[in-house]
Amino acid sequence: MATTYDAIIIGTGQAGPPLAVRLASTGMKVAIIERKRFGGTCVNTGCIPTKTLVASARAAHVARHAGEYGVRIDSAIDIDMKKVKERKDEVVRRSNEGVEKWLKSTEKLTVYEGHARFEGAHQVRVGDELLEADKIFINVGGRAATPPLPGLDQVSYFTNSTMMEVDFLPEHLIVIGGSYIGLEFAQMYRRFGSEVTIVEMGPRLIQREDEDVSEAINTILENEGINIRLSAECIALEKRGDKVAVNVDCKSGDKTVVGSHALLAVGRVPNTEDLGLENAGIAVDRRGYIQVDDQFRTNVPGIYALGDCNGRGAFTHTAYNDYEIVAANLLDGDERRVNDRITAYALYIDPPLGRAGMTETEVRKSGRKALIGKRPMTRVGRAVEKGETQGFMKVLVDAGTKDILGAALLGIECDEVIHSILDVMYTKAPYTVIQRAMHIHPTVSELIPTILGELKPLE
Ligand SMILES: Cc1cc2nc3c(=O)[nH]c(=O)nc-3n(C[C@H](O)[C@H](O)[C@H](O)COP(=O)(O)OP(=O)(O)OC[C@H]3O[C@@H](n4cnc5c(N)ncnc54)[C@H](O)[C@@H]3O)c2cc1C
Repeated sequence: MATTYDAIIIGTGQAGPPLAVRLASTGMKVAIIERKRFGGTCVNTGCIPTKTLVASARAAHVARHAGEYGVRIDSAIDIDMKKVKERKDEVVRRSNEGVEKWLKSTEKLTVYEGHARFEGAHQVRVGDELLEADKIFINVGGRAATPPLPGLDQVSYFTNSTMMEVDFLPEHLIVIGGSYIGLEFAQMYRRFGSEVTIVEMGPRLIQREDEDVSEAINTILENEGINIRLSAECIALEKRGDKVAVNVDCKSGDKTVVGSHALLAVGRVPNTEDLGLENAGIAVDRRGYIQVDDQFRTNVPGIYALGDCNGRGAFTHTAYNDYEIVAANLLDGDERRVNDRITAYALYIDPPLGRAGMTETEVRKSGRKALIGKRPMTRVGRAVEKGETQGFMKVLVDAGTKDILGAALLGIECDEVIHSILDVMYTKAPYTVIQRAMHIHPTVSELIPTILGELKPLE
């Protein structure tokens, strides 16, 4: 006999919990199912722990450079990796337990712990329990991809998840993958004191970004002593005693890098292959992402997919925004759509990259007439005062409509500054609104109106 609910939610990532609580608050009888740790990737192995570790790494970096600010530290900087991990674990614990308590204390909401699998379009099994509901929301997230690299099965390697257990300093960490996740770990471990090599298959780091952004990030990381091996077209791994050797087959430099540990950061895959989607007839694309329309409805009536598993976003804020869109449509009579949202994210190396809207490459491809403004951080007073002048800020606008098309801000505080641009993009106001705004001195944000006052045609 199945237990009947008004709604079942699979996964407690960034969309499931707020949706479960919101639905239960309307009087619906709701079930939520989690097979591992409450809070999902962001809380346990993603944003929260990595940004906590980035903060420890930055503290080490600032301490090492204290002399440049006239602050003398009369001993070598010593990193206590056990303490670093303890601090991270504590921040994660509070968040993970917070989600669990929140869900378990919500009236009309039943929490099931176990792996959920569809048995039919509206039936889900968790262990011995069979649940059914007209409405089912899938929020199963994703995990690190492990592509069939030659030799990968012969060596031990870390992913973002297993990296969370590290409480020692790897002597030489080889980071395979030069994109968002890999770069954050690379800089963090370099700052903790490891030798670090990034091995990237493509010709440049973080290839979704414009070339000038990739180059500037390359310089920032090399300035800290990180080795970067690009165009590593046939990566292969091999065990060498207690070390790991990575064949990088690069055009220049040694063909093999030998390190003490390897971290695989070459993308993510959705957790959809063991969900019994075939029993429910739910369509996925060729990479396993659940196909949804612009309000997150799957092809099966009453079933929705939110967060990383729908392939429409890969961030905590996109997953949470998915929840807001679904709740608005179902409960508020507000027809919100995913197509209305503007691309926005940050890369948390130090200094960070804040991104909104289109890249310069995308603007060029679109063929529209555009204007561009760019300023190096060496010409930003606040950055100079802080002694942190790496990077640049770049904004693109439509020459005709004056709409802001996109921005890439790479520099100190830029993960925050980007919002002054993002919010105006949402208002659909012309760029002149920010250009004429009086910003506070001395801030990094105060240069955004200046940049917009110096726009030039995009050649
Ligand atoms: C190292 C790293 C750093 C990151 N940093 C950032 C950042 O700084 N900012 C940012 O915005 N994003 C960041 N992200 C991305 C962010 O973590 C994810 O986009 C976000 O967690 C996606 O949330 P979600 O709700 O889709 O799924 P998830 O958070 O992955 O949650 C899915 C949940 O579903 C559960 N589940 C899966 N299958 C089943 C099943 N069959 N039955 C029951 N339960 C199941 C899982 O156990 C998990 O708890 C980072 C990711 C990584 C890996």
